[in-house]
Amino acid sequence: MKYVPKLKEMPEIPADKLPVSEMFYSIQGEGRFAGCPALFIRLKYCNLGCSWCDTRFTWDSDKIEAGELLTNYEITEKAIKLTGKRNDIMPSIHVVITGGEPMLHQLKIPKLISIMKKNGFAIFEIETNGMYVPTDEMKEAISWWNCSPKLTNNGLDKRVNIVPEALRVISDTKRADFKFVVRNSEDITELENDYMKYIPKENIMLMPEGWTVRKQKESMPWVMKICREKGLRFSPRLHILSWNNARGK
Ligand code: SF4
Repeated sequence: MKYVPKLKEMPEIPADKLPVSEMFYSIQGEGRFAGCPALFIRLKYCNLGCSWCDTRFTWDSDKIEAGELLTNYEITEKAIKLTGKRNDIMPSIHVVITGGEPMLHQLKIPKLISIMKKNGFAIFEIETNGMYVPTDEMKEAISWWNCSPKLTNNGLDKRVNIVPEALRVISDTKRADFKFVVRNSEDITELENDYMKYIPKENIMLMPEGWTVRKQKESMPWVMKICREKGLRFSPRLHILSWNNARGK
C-alpha cells in the first residue's frame, strides 16, 4: 500500500514565538561537526513526513507532542541554563536548530540567532531537508547547513523530495554538507542520477540507516565500503551508537 504521511498542519503561531518541541545539551552526532558539544533546539512541524522519521513527535498527526511556544528570549534563557551558564564554553558550542523541518520557521530564526549571539553563542548549524530556498537573512545567520535531502527510500516520490533551486542556493553558500541516508545500491544510483547534478561531490556524505545500535553496526561496513569506492565522505550517527537514539541525549 502506498505510504501517505499524516502531516499535522502548522497552526497560526504568534509572530514573536517559535514552536519548540524540545531543547537539550548533547554532542552533535551527525555530519561534519559530529563530536562537537551542541545545544539542540528542535522546532515543530515538517513539510515532508518520511516513513522512517525518528522525530514523528514533531509532525505526525497521531504522535505530535504539545511542545511549547517560546519567545526568542525564553529560548535563549533556556539555552543558557542548559549549558550550565558557562560563558567560557558557550562560544564553542554548536547551536543546532533542527526539527521537524526548521526552515518552515526561517523568517523568525535570524532574530533568534541575533539574540543568542548577544548572549555568548557563536556557531549556528541548521539541520534541514533542503527543500526551502533560504532568505538572505538566513544565509547570513547560519554558520553551517547540515542538509539531509531525501531519497525515495523515505516512501515518497522524487518529485516530492527534490527542490533543485533550494539545493543550489544552499550549496552556493559554500557552508553546506548534504547527507544522504542510504541502504542499498539503488539508493546510490538514485543519488548519482538525481542529486549529483546539483551538489558538488565533495559536499556529499553517506549515512547508514537505522535507529538502533544493532542496525547501525549492521549497516556501517557497507556504507563505509561505498564511501571508499566512490570517494565520498561517511557520516556517523554517534547519538545512536552511544544512546540507542534515546530522547534528549
Ligand atoms: S524531513 Fe526530517 S523531520 Fe521531516 S519527516 Fe523527514 S526525517 Fe523527519
